Amino acid sequence: MGTMPFDLLLLLLPGAGRLPGDAASLATIKASELRAHVEFLASDELEGREAGSEAEGVAAAYLASRLHAFGLKPGGDEGGWLQHFRQGGRVMRNVVGILEGSDPRRRSEVVVLGAHFDHVGRGGAQSGGMGPKGEIHNGADDNASGTAALLELAEAFASAPPARTLVFAHFSGEEKGLLGSKHYVESPALPLESTVAMVNLDMIGRSRESYLFVGGLGTSPGWPAIVARAGESEKLALETAEGGRAPSDNTPFYEKGIPCLFLFTNIHEDYHGPGDDAEKLDYAGIERIGRAAWRLVAEVANAEGRLPFKEADSTALPADFGKRMRERMGGNRVRLGVRTGEPGPEGGLPVEEVFEGSPAASAGILDGDLLLAIGDAPLRTRAELMAALGKVKRGESARLRIRRGVEEISVEVRFPAEAPSRSSESRPARRDP
Ligand SMILES: [Zn+2]
Repeated sequence: MGTMPFDLLLLLLPGAGRLPGDAASLATIKASELRAHVEFLASDELEGREAGSEAEGVAAAYLASRLHAFGLKPGGDEGGWLQHFRQGGRVMRNVVGILEGSDPRRRSEVVVLGAHFDHVGRGGAQSGGMGPKGEIHNGADDNASGTAALLELAEAFASAPPARTLVFAHFSGEEKGLLGSKHYVESPALPLESTVAMVNLDMIGRSRESYLFVGGLGTSPGWPAIVARAGESEKLALETAEGGRAPSDNTPFYEKGIPCLFLFTNIHEDYHGPGDDAEKLDYAGIERIGRAAWRLVAEVANAEGRLPFKEADSTALPADFGKRMRERMGGNRVRLGVRTGEPGPEGGLPVEEVFEGSPAASAGILDGDLLLAIGDAPLRTRAELMAALGKVKRGESARLRIRRGVEEISVEVRFPAEAPSRSSESRPARRDP
């Protein structure tokens, strides 16, 4: 035999562990196929996949056809692939497939793998005001990346089902407030009492340098070792956190007492913007994260005993998530650093609060001032103030006309070149990834 590699030796030995089957399943998770899924889902034809839109239906049909081709069983309403739910008169759809477990004794127990496939459509208010209204927001990272990985995981597991049953849940309405996952936990494809774990893939497309964030390790004493093994096998640089909550679809499962994980490669300058495109993703990275997800799901789904639940009632996010969000929100925009009240009857925006250290404070703007204009642009509404500030770049200054008591004065406001600090933000915002 001599130089036969150890892996190959194992393949030839009957009953020599799980490696051969595992290797064959893992080999079906391919960067090229991940790319093909993302290129379809994040194409302009799908118009940003807003929940309840016609394009969301096209995406749902694509997902259902893939799950069908892999040999899964439909887990939606009335024997179909879709779970329907409504908001504001619009019908939205989750896509749900079931892969029955191979062990008759354990197949009544379930592991749910989830990823949301909806995005913010054409931006504007949908994107939390981060993306311009009207342009297509393709949502390649958010969350065609996790959706594509979920498809590849369905294919991989279908080639050799684990002991327990798997549910593949493509959620819609995540961007509108976790609507699809909230609906799922109220109308699950299989009972929640039998659901032993949930693994959520949301934004896993911008790994770079093997980075992966995994939240939720505190939701079961079993997770830390399982996650560490999966990360090591794929040589991922893991950042982990305990909390069962996140601004994503694992939260409703956590609230039902189910051990859950949140896999995420963090936000970036294209987050909820029109530049979140397919060509910017790290497909080799998604492949490795998909393989790691396969490993940890396989371990939970094949374990002799059920994974126990533990409370971990905090929000798990990467350490620099807040900093990145402030940079993203700041973006090319400047902030004045005031809270304004309702516009007065004769126009102008009353200042109710000036934030310490802000450009407004440095310019000497005071509580009770009435903002009349920036440059030539009159300020009659908050929207006009936002629009006027939107035309000023960081490092520049602007002239503000103000009424103070009976006087009308003019002040020069300087906007710093660097990103605004927390204290000068009018309102620190957090959005669902
Ligand atoms: Zn999002």
